[in-house]
Amino acid sequence: MELIKVIPRGYCKGVVRAINIAKETAQKYPNKKIYILGMLVHNKYVIEALKNYHIITIDDKNKSREQLLEEIEDGIVIFTAHGIHPKVKIQAEAKGLTCIDASCLDVLRTQDIVNQYLDQNYEILYIGKKHHPESSAVCDHNDHVHLIEKAEDIHILPNFEKVFVTNQTTMSYSDVKHLFDEIQKRYKKVIISDEICNATRSRQEAVAALHDIDALIVVGDKASNNANRLAQIAKEKGIIKVYLIDDVNDLDVKAICTLRRVAITAGASTPTYLINQVIYCLENKIFEKQKIEKDKIL
Ligand code: SF4
Repeated sequence: MELIKVIPRGYCKGVVRAINIAKETAQKYPNKKIYILGMLVHNKYVIEALKNYHIITIDDKNKSREQLLEEIEDGIVIFTAHGIHPKVKIQAEAKGLTCIDASCLDVLRTQDIVNQYLDQNYEILYIGKKHHPESSAVCDHNDHVHLIEKAEDIHILPNFEKVFVTNQTTMSYSDVKHLFDEIQKRYKKVIISDEICNATRSRQEAVAALHDIDALIVVGDKASNNANRLAQIAKEKGIIKVYLIDDVNDLDVKAICTLRRVAITAGASTPTYLINQVIYCLENKIFEKQKIEKDKIL
């Protein structure tokens, strides 16, 4: 079996920045309670590792950021890489919490653009995932921002004069393109700003460019939008076997080693050591298998 290591893969600059901000906060405030409002980045191993820095993650996928904030009484609150709604920030400050913002700069850029168009009385069509923290930070509490998940969401909107369209940074570029086209059919004069971040785009393009592959392994958390999108793109391009795995323990080594060409990639929030463990495991199996086959020949 040949193992193709897809480049780029794994950590993006926004994730590295958020983790560094959290670590620096722990160093700066050794005696204070430090909380993260939601998962700092969507990977459970990162959340576990942060506990070693006395950083507690307050998370519940059924609760909004406002509801999670109610669980914090005092200390420091870190906002995650996905961005935060201004209303939540104001609520945190009103509670007397020290606020640290680990929002990715690409996410903040999209929020700024949306605000610029809102100031000019545009209706915003925001392509994203419902209840994802990045889309909630933009869409919640604003009647002029409309979340678009699928084409049907466009058809039920009224006729608007001024429409600005943008998207969550970690969406699939083909899904976003399809929805841009649908929106342009519905609203003739729209302004579009494609905000898929470079990290997401380059990882997706690298998967889309794969050829003659029997399987793709995506190392990433099931909660990670960008890891899921890598798996989705692989399936859409016809790769029959696509494995989204948390870590090496989920690897079906026996089944994978029967294949001819297997590629490996990882979501932007997957720690490098998790990817390397999978590679190491497969390369050792490859080595064993090659040795066995060689022995057979000899
Ligand atoms: Fe920022 Fe993109 Fe990384 Fe998300 S995936 S943290 S938007 S660089």
